[in-house]
Amino acid sequence: VAKGAGKNQWRRYQAHLHGAMVERLELRSALDHAVHEGHFLLAYQPIVDLTTDEAVGFEALVRWHHPTRGVIAPAEFLEVAEESGLVVPMGRWVLDQALHTVAQWWRTLPRSRRPYVSVNVSARQFREGNFVEQVKQSLAYAGVPPQALMLELSEALLDGGHDAIWDDLAVLRDFGVGIAVDDFGTRHASPGDLRRRPVDVVKIDKGFADDTTLIAGLVTLARTLGLTVIAEGVESPAHRDLLIRLGCPLGQGYLLSSPLDGTEALSRMSGHLPLVA
Ligand code: C2E
Ligand code: MG
Ligand code: MG
Ligand code: MG
Repeated sequence: VAKGAGKNQWRRYQAHLHGAMVERLELRSALDHAVHEGHFLLAYQPIVDLTTDEAVGFEALVRWHHPTRGVIAPAEFLEVAEESGLVVPMGRWVLDQALHTVAQWWRTLPRSRRPYVSVNVSARQFREGNFVEQVKQSLAYAGVPPQALMLELSEALLDGGHDAIWDDLAVLRDFGVGIAVDDFGTRHASPGDLRRRPVDVVKIDKGFADDTTLIAGLVTLARTLGLTVIAEGVESPAHRDLLIRLGCPLGQGYLLSSPLDGTEALSRMSGHLPLVA
């Protein structure tokens, strides 16, 4: 009996593994199709000056616009996109689209209130995409200066073994593109790591919204190094007030605004809609 049960368990386990594998393969091929058909869209979340409520920039966040399943969040497909390498052509689309949108904003808005667009990039885009040339070409094609663009890299890239990527980032930063470290605080980057890398901005991970001591420490570290700090995941007035008290001038989060489509973002910049209701 025991032997029979074991065998059944083993079969169930195999069926489960097989199912998961098939699901992943299906996801990958659907994603491949989406990349070729351009079935993505970008949402733009304001990065807000907490004292004036004005947006200084917008983070471009990718969504998969699936023909039957509707809009799918990046958590559901980024891992497969990374593994399969599809994140490289997808990332190219994201960059072009974000710059196309920011170019429209810049054509419409007065000089004093032109926001930058902040684009998430993954390590694979550097290794497989001649990234520096791609960014320069995309900027030229969109017709915006490098100051209109910020690139967000995960703090994980501050760990060793990514020197080639940082060489590329140094070139882009000299060119005028802003460089932000995303998920700041999750990997305990040392002050030395931060100091020797070409970085302008750190984005405090939204996972720390409840940890006053940690936020205070990260803000102090960033300010000591002369970096601009953005706090993510600002969901409550109390959190916003705390950030202002700690000297963190910029925030992003549902309290300030959800991610918007490009047209809504422009209306808010034009002052048709208040950023904080
Ligand atoms: P991230 O770069 O840290 O982006 C912030 C995420 O937090 C976004 O999720 C945003 O919608 C969400 N968020 C905004 N405000 C709040 C808040 O007040 N509370 C909470 N709990 N969450 C908030 P989203 O859009 O689902 O993106 C998830 C992650 O996917 C991003 O995290 C980023 O790492 C990645 N990602 C997004 N777009 C791209 C892309 O174009 N390329 C690459 N490589 N990765 C991307
Ligand atoms: Mg980001
Ligand atoms: Mg982040
Ligand atoms: Mg994050």
